[in-house]
Amino acid sequence: PPDVETLGRSTWTLLHTIAATYPATAPPEKQTEMKTFIGIFSRIYPCWVCAEDFRQWIERPENKLVPGQEGGHLGGRASFGQWMCGAHNEVNRKLGKREFDCSRYEERWRTGWAD
Ligand code: FAD
Repeated sequence: PPDVETLGRSTWTLLHTIAATYPATAPPEKQTEMKTFIGIFSRIYPCWVCAEDFRQWIERPENKLVPGQEGGHLGGRASFGQWMCGAHNEVNRKLGKREFDCSRYEERWRTGWAD
């Protein structure tokens, strides 16, 4: 069975890299595609307790992904990146890890630094 930590690290790398390469301004079809991806991801992620908590987080009104919504999380790279950063910080808090400074999101995941 997959190791929850190794799987988690690799998965966050994928999710943040996807967020960092999302269009600066996303057209409606890209927004719908991303909502679908996140929804399916939340049902197939092979750490079932992780997936369950993630599903609950994405269902909260303030975290809901609504395609086409004015100023919504899916509108473009900056807002979607902050959403993903928030999702990860929720897990960091739960696990007692340090919260990540989301103002450094682009530096970490787009322009790049080594860690
Ligand atoms: P990780 O948390 O994997 O982070 C990797 C790197 O991402 C860090 O080194 C840092 O540079 C960067 N980073 C950290 N926080 C952020 C942020 N907020 N935004 C952007 N970049 C950031 N594990 C459990 O034990 N229980 C769970 O319920 C659980 N739920 C998970 C849910 C999801 C959707 C995912 C993808 C993973 C989950 N995990 C869970 C795994 C957990 O989040 C970690 O991946 C794992 O514990 C390894 O942690 P790490 O300290 O190596 O760094």
